This record gives sequence, C-alpha cells and structure tokens, in this order.
Amino acid sequence: MTTATQQRSTLDVEVCRRDFPILATEVRGRPLVYLDNAASSQKPRQVIAAIETYYREKHANVHRGVHHLAQLATDAYEGARDTVARHLGARDRREVVFVRGTTEAINLVAQSFARPRLGAGDEILLTQLEHHSNIVPWQLVAQQTGARIVVAPLDATGQLDLEQFEARLSPQTRIVGLAHVSNALGTVLPVAEVCELARQRGAVTVVDGAQAAPHLQLDVAGLGCDFYAVSAHKAYGPTGIGALWGRGELLAAMPPYQGGGEMIRTVSFEGTDFAEAPARFEAGTPNIAGAVGMAAAFDYLDALGLEAIANHEHDLLEYATRQVAAIEGVQLVGTAANKASVLSFLLDGVHAHDVGTILDTEGVAVRVGHHCAQPLMDSLGIAATARASFALYNTRQEIDALVAGLERVRELFA
Ligand code: PLP
Repeated sequence: MTTATQQRSTLDVEVCRRDFPILATEVRGRPLVYLDNAASSQKPRQVIAAIETYYREKHANVHRGVHHLAQLATDAYEGARDTVARHLGARDRREVVFVRGTTEAINLVAQSFARPRLGAGDEILLTQLEHHSNIVPWQLVAQQTGARIVVAPLDATGQLDLEQFEARLSPQTRIVGLAHVSNALGTVLPVAEVCELARQRGAVTVVDGAQAAPHLQLDVAGLGCDFYAVSAHKAYGPTGIGALWGRGELLAAMPPYQGGGEMIRTVSFEGTDFAEAPARFEAGTPNIAGAVGMAAAFDYLDALGLEAIANHEHDLLEYATRQVAAIEGVQLVGTAANKASVLSFLLDGVHAHDVGTILDTEGVAVRVGHHCAQPLMDSLGIAATARASFALYNTRQEIDALVAGLERVRELFA
C-alpha cells in the first residue's frame, strides 16, 4: 500500500519522507525543517489521496440513503470507524465516537458523563501538566455542579509524582483526567498505574491521548482507562476530526451531548427517542472525509509499525537532547526518564519568541510560547519555552540545522 510498508522493525526515513510532499518545499530559500509536529504533523500522500478519492468517487450524505453513492459514503465512514477502533485497541467499534478532536472529546465527557453525576464536594483530579483542553472543560463542569478541581504535582524532572497523586485520590474523587504524553514537556505518564489506582477508588479515568497517538501503540482496553481522546491531525491525519473511545457501558448510560439529525431513532414534537452510541453523540452530518483521512493515517502508522516509529523518534530525541543541551546557555525544560518526541528549552537571555523568529529565518519551524499549558508554566516559574517536536520523517541532519540555528541566535544576542 505504501512505499514504506516493507520496513516494520526499522524505518527507512528517506523513503517515508517521499510520502510527505510538503517536506520538499523551501522556506525563505532554505529546505523546510519542520519541528512543530506536536502542534500538528504533516500529511502523507496516502492520506491526501484517500480524502481526494473519497470526494472524487464516493461522496454523498451518510446513513439512511438508498442510492449507490450514499451507500459508498456510509461504507467509507463506518469502515473508518472499524479502522480507528482496531487502531485504538477497542473491543467494540460502537465504543468509538467521531468528534472534532481531543478538545471536543473531553468536552463531551465533561458535559455528558460528568455533569449529571457530579455535585458539591466531588473532586476532579488532574495533573499539573495538562493542556488547557484537559483543564477548562473540567472547570466549566465544576462551576456547573459545585465540584472542585484538585491538582497532582510533578517531580523535578516533569514526571507525575505517583505518591503525591495517590495521596490526592480521595473518596470524593469522581474523575481523574490526565495526558498520556505531555505536549509541553514530552513526559510519558504512567497511565496504566494511574488508571488502576483510580479504578480501586471508584474514580473514572479520562485520558488525553492527543500526543500519544503519533508515537505510541495505543491499547485502550489494556490501559484500563474509561475514556480516551485523540485528534487525527497530530497523527498524520486531517484537521477537524478525532475520536472519543469510551467504555460501552458508560457510553450507553450517557445522555446526548448535542441534538439534531443522525442521533435520533424517532422524533415528534412530544419528544425524541435517541439512537444508541455512537450515533447518539454524532449529531448532524459528520466529517465523512475527515474520518476517511483519519483511518488512512492510522493505516499508514500501522503499516510502518509504531515500534519502528518509536525507535526512530527515540533516537532523534536522544540526539537532539545531547546536541541542544551542549549549547551554551540552554536549559532543558522536562527531563523525565520516559519521554516522547518533545524537546522544550530556554536560551539564557533570549525570549522564546525571538528564538522562534530567528530559527524561522533559517527555515526551521519550532513552536514557542506556553503551549496551552499555562498552569504548568506558572508552576515552573516561566512564561514560555521554545519547543522542537519530532515526527517519523525527521532526521538527525534536521536536528543539526536546529542546532546551527540556535548557535546563530546566540551570536545575534551575544
Ligand atoms: N491535549 C494535548 C496534550 C495537546 O497537545 C493538544 C493540542 O495541542 C490537545 C489536547 C488539543 O487537541 P485539539 O486541538 O486537536 O483538540
């Protein structure tokens, strides 16, 4: 299927790079060095082609159509659900709800699962490193219900302190929300352990898998979580589509999140009988092409093999960590033993925005700022970092370009 399918244990990066047309472009007369993958990754031609083929050959509205194209579109959409369910390790395809992305998935759980169940005195336990999209939906539901947010701190490396976490699990803890991988620090959190501790206390776990999907073999059933959220665009798929996985029995007990077409069985002015999950949570015409693109992205990852991808990215991260740490005035932010593909750092005397702007003149794209993790930044006493984040198509030479660019920043600010 892909030119790069042959390599499963190791990755032929040069072959993979040819799958990503945008990597051949130049920025300001320099070859593009794209190190902003944690914000959004680039798209392989297999994903672009799947979306194009869908629109060229199969498009119509899904479900309830009796004509040929409606059937093709429905098959494409529901087939995408099968692929996503398999890739996530779901036991049942009906446990996969298509949503706009991780943000919408967490809002759905907060409003549909948590809001009817929480009351004054209940606690929602989050970690210090959460992305705003795993904080703000819980703040909203806390305001609506009188529940309270409790925060589990990190150790000095940026890893969740499990003892402190456990100490904050109380009989009032109803929800535990945590990232699988931190977008700001790269920390891989001990999700299975956290889920087990939460389960023992009767708390429901909501895992933000936005940054795990591009790097780790996902296995929602094996992790022992209750809900798992992903965005396609961070894992080589299109924007505007993602998935919420939820335990079947929990989804079955949840009321609709939004009302409209597609999510009903029968409607009259007296009342509505809702469809079963997942349709109950997919009001309106869905992002059919997005689902098709998401499935193509997961097929692409599976064809290459997550283990091969993780090995390559681990090598890149180690190399980048050594090279960048050796630059005078660099301070790494996030040094946990278990990390994935993210290198956040400060450069003494230079604002992170200046670092990003100057690197851009060299064709090197990194992200600078608070990375939508302001409570984390506040706890570290910093306003912003520069962040290089790596994907399966990045190379050591590109890290050399980053390092050369950082040396240039230092010269300019000397
Ligand atoms: N969670 C984490 C850890 C993220 O890095 C992001 C995006 O940066 C999100 C959630 C939100 O994802 P989306 O904007 O695709 O909904």
